[in-house]
Amino acid sequence: MRSEESSTLDTKSMLHHVLTVEDPQGYRNFLLNNTTYSLGRSLENAITLRSNLVSRQHATLLPLASQKSSCFFRIIDGSLEGKRSTNGILINGKKRFSHILSHGDEILFSKDTKAVYQLISAIASIPKLGSSQNQTSNISYPNIKTQPFDETEPLRFSPIQSIPDHDIPAHFLKTVNQFISSPELNPRPIIELNLVGQILYINPAALSQFPNLEVMRINHPLLQELLVQLVPLVNPVSKFFVREVAIKDNVFEEIIHFMPWNEVIRVHIADVTKRKEAEAIISYQIHHDALTGLPNRKYLHEHLTETIKKLENKEQRFAVLFLDIDRFKLINDSLGHSIGDLLLNSVSDRLKILLKQDDVMVRWGADEFAIVAKEIYSTDAVVQIAESMIQSLTLPFNCGGHELHITTCIGASIYPDHNTDVEGLIRNADMAMYRAKAEGQNSFQFYVPNMQEQSFQRLSMENNLRRALENNELLTYYQPQIDLSTGKIVGLEVLLRWKHVSLGSIPPSQFIPLAEETGLIIAIGTWVLRHTCLQAISWQNMGLHPIQIGVNLSIKQLQQKDFLSSLQLILEETNLDPHFLELEITEGIVMDNVKEKIILLNEFRKMGIQLSIDDFGTGYSSLGYLKNLPVNTLKIDRIFIEYITYNEHDRAIVASIINLSHSLHLNVIAEGVETQEQVDVLRSLGCDQVQGYVFYKALPADEIEALLRAQGVTKPNQLEP
Ligand code: C2E
Ligand code: CA
Ligand code: CA
Repeated sequence: MRSEESSTLDTKSMLHHVLTVEDPQGYRNFLLNNTTYSLGRSLENAITLRSNLVSRQHATLLPLASQKSSCFFRIIDGSLEGKRSTNGILINGKKRFSHILSHGDEILFSKDTKAVYQLISAIASIPKLGSSQNQTSNISYPNIKTQPFDETEPLRFSPIQSIPDHDIPAHFLKTVNQFISSPELNPRPIIELNLVGQILYINPAALSQFPNLEVMRINHPLLQELLVQLVPLVNPVSKFFVREVAIKDNVFEEIIHFMPWNEVIRVHIADVTKRKEAEAIISYQIHHDALTGLPNRKYLHEHLTETIKKLENKEQRFAVLFLDIDRFKLINDSLGHSIGDLLLNSVSDRLKILLKQDDVMVRWGADEFAIVAKEIYSTDAVVQIAESMIQSLTLPFNCGGHELHITTCIGASIYPDHNTDVEGLIRNADMAMYRAKAEGQNSFQFYVPNMQEQSFQRLSMENNLRRALENNELLTYYQPQIDLSTGKIVGLEVLLRWKHVSLGSIPPSQFIPLAEETGLIIAIGTWVLRHTCLQAISWQNMGLHPIQIGVNLSIKQLQQKDFLSSLQLILEETNLDPHFLELEITEGIVMDNVKEKIILLNEFRKMGIQLSIDDFGTGYSSLGYLKNLPVNTLKIDRIFIEYITYNEHDRAIVASIINLSHSLHLNVIAEGVETQEQVDVLRSLGCDQVQGYVFYKALPADEIEALLRAQGVTKPNQLEP
């Protein structure tokens, strides 16, 4: 059915009309002439679609040369004689009988066969083209780096990771879709190769950024080791892979798409150097103390977690020592902070000398240091370490012309004798340090379990808490979140309060950990969720503007198998639109079984629920993970906000967190904002919202109602007469 006419191009604009067909046997490009084409399964068609799912004569392309200078195509379903195909055609997802094609249109013939129509101004590098009229590329491409990249030996490759289809982040799919719609115009480099390492296709963006690709081929740093790493992973289930390649100072993320039917590997390349740098800076800052340069608490947590993991099933011991300088505050107050800072640095320097190679020392708090001493074979060894530390600090310090004499106290706990988890080891070493303080200056104490006293206290508290739920002693307070651009209340966070009959108001920090330990948090958490939804509905019924309310979730709740269904039930019972419910989750919660958690979080999102990462910066997660989490909002923890007005280090962390969040399209809330100066800094850094005492503390429901009413009413009062 192909006519003999041969006006190949749109002569005026030199545009080529290309149809890229992808069927189970691979993909081909057809350069379209100003003529009629039939498409279908039968070999008699001008363009054969090699799938059993398409009709013998499935569709027809008709040229429309209304103006001499240009040629367009209309696609119709079925043959020119009017016989329709069995299953029809979808154009860009919509069923059509007839459609005038424009650039990028996708035509679906069956679930395994599709085509993309493109207008292309140069055809130099299109492979397997249906015409020999190739010519050299003369297009200028938008957004392409004009400086070709310095292509030298790669420094390192990250191992290739396989990504299950349901875990593919949106930006991956976007890249792939972009490719399908137009590899030639895509500003991102794209390379295709087969399983024996022959390059089949290089798009113009790749050629422009990596001119050596054509010469070096498979030996180019971007492709080195690719097959070795990829081939063992290739199987029909997984189609997406990712790895990073560092070349000189740049890092490239390679999104690798394997197409099993034609065994072609497509590599999409993105320069992620800036993102990596930002992540590295933030990670360093988050893990280190600015004054002494020592690692910090967060680092200690991670280090201990890792160490314990390594020692599982091994007979090795290690000790955690807590060292505190006696009356450091006195030095700070009388001689000034700068002398205090000098002293801390000198103490840190002296202690460092005593560390063995694998030992780690962190700055735990203002005048507290924590030391992890490895390979401990006896308690005597720990005593010796502690004594030599105390001893070394008894010699006077010279700080800014002042001769300073200090004393210290040290407490220690031993893994696994005193505890086997991170929190327990730290808590026990800290308790031991306080016991040492009670003993007097320059003393050392091991942790001594005092089970009896502790368990008695716990038991009575546990009973009290159990009763609190039954006796309605638990209350919800709500803390407003303010939008920095409008000054309006745009959200609330629910914070639990326990009003005990005789003990008075007990803060959540004192009972939530116990509730978690005893499992009571499940009942309490369910109560908070239901109560919050009812409160939200009640405010909406009063005609107040609907507002989003955040509820804190505990890890124990998310570990419940039936959490999702109980949440659904609460939403159904209370009739709250899930868009007004936000769940606040800490990084630690997500990091506990990441894969499973991401699936669960996606379920929440599917229901319409909003998600935020709470206390960001204090947890254990790597920033890299953030982009894979389906969250809307990131809440920067109070510890970064506290000194933001005068501590550049903290300000830089917050700035980086805000920038990174915005690049991932996340909303950012700063927590614990207490002063107008902090608000001003946060506004200048582009922070979206703030929560803190500078605006409001957590307030009871009736006070919130008044605040919301002051912001305006949407509809007539429905509840009250
Ligand atoms: P969070 O989620 O980080 O909540 C914010 C805490 O910071 C609240 O303490 C709040 O009163 C306090 N805060 C807010 N603005 C400021 C400020 O400007 N300055 C200072 N210094 N503090 C501020 P709160 O109410 O004591 O809650 C402590 C923690 O208890 C919460 O931390 C949350 O982790 C937990 N919590 C509270 N309610 C619940 C709950 O219903 N369920 C669960 N699982 N945890 C809860
Ligand atoms: Ca929270
Ligand atoms: Ca928080």
